[in-house]
Amino acid sequence: MTHYEIKAEDRQFSFDKEHKPVITVQRGDTVTFNTVDCFSCQIKSSDDLVGDINFDQVNPGTGPIYVEGAEPGDVLVVHIDDIQVQDYGVAVTYGMGPLKENSEIRTKIIPINQEKQTATFNDIEIPLHKMIGVIGVAPAGEAIGCGRIGDHGGNMDNRLIEKGVTLYFPVNTAGALLQIGDLHGAMGDGELDGAALECSGSATVTVDVIKNFKLDRPLIETENRWYTTAARDTFSEALELAMKDMQRLMREPYGWDDTDIDIYLSIDGHAEINQSCEPGAMTISLRVGIPKLEGKELIK
Ligand code: CA
Ligand code: ZN
Repeated sequence: MTHYEIKAEDRQFSFDKEHKPVITVQRGDTVTFNTVDCFSCQIKSSDDLVGDINFDQVNPGTGPIYVEGAEPGDVLVVHIDDIQVQDYGVAVTYGMGPLKENSEIRTKIIPINQEKQTATFNDIEIPLHKMIGVIGVAPAGEAIGCGRIGDHGGNMDNRLIEKGVTLYFPVNTAGALLQIGDLHGAMGDGELDGAALECSGSATVTVDVIKNFKLDRPLIETENRWYTTAARDTFSEALELAMKDMQRLMREPYGWDDTDIDIYLSIDGHAEINQSCEPGAMTISLRVGIPKLEGKELIK
C-alpha cells in the first residue's frame, strides 16, 4: 500500500466529474491532503472581515484523487486516519444564524495549543475537536460548488467526521474523484452562526471500494454507531430521507419488516443536527444514528 501526499495548491472550488485528478491511487492506498482553510487563507488578522474577501476563493477542496476500480454503482470507502490543524484558527460572524440581529460582523484569530490540544477563546480554553468540513465525490450531473452540500457530500460540516471514522459515498463517476478541505479545529453541532474554528492543515485518509452496493447518500461509521445523513431545504425533507435510508439499509442485516424498524428507530435511534444556521442561505443537514451491533453491519 502506498502513501501519497498532495499539495494545498492543487485545489478546486467545485465537485465536478470533469476535474482532472491530481493523482490516481489503488484500493488500500493512503493519501494526505494538505488543505487551506475555508477562506483560502485570505483572513489573517481580526481586521480582515468575511465581507471583504474574494468569495470566489471560499471553501476549496484539495484534489481530486482518482481511485482505481471505483465505478458508478459502487461505494467509495474513506477511512479518516488523522487530522492535523495549524497553530491558529479563524472564527467569525458574517450575518448568518439566529443571533445575527444583535451581532456585529467580527473576526477573531484563535490561538491553538498543540500540546494541550486546546483553543483559547477569550478567557477560556476549548478542547480541540478536529474534523473535516468539506469532503465528497463528484456528482453524477452538473458541477456543485464546494460551499454547498448534497447527496455527493460536499460542505458536510458534520462534527462526526473526525479521526477514526469511516465514510461511505455513492460513486457517480469512474474514480469517484474525492476532494477534501475546510478543516475545523472545533465546531458545535448545528454550526450555529454558519462558521466553525476554520483551520488550514492536513487530513490523511485510506480509501477502498465496495463493488455494486446501492447507497444514495453518505453513510458514516463511528466506533460505536452507524449514521445516515441528508441535507435538504427543510428539516422534515432531510429527516425523511435520512430515516428512509436507514430503514432500507437495516432491512437485510436486521431481517425486520418496515414497521418494526420504525418502532426500533423511535426507541433506540437518534436524529442529530449537523448544520442549521437559519436564517441564512444554508440548507438543513442532519444525521440519524443507531448503535453498531456485531453481525448487523449496514454495509460491508
Ligand atoms: Ca464548512
Ligand atoms: Zn469550515
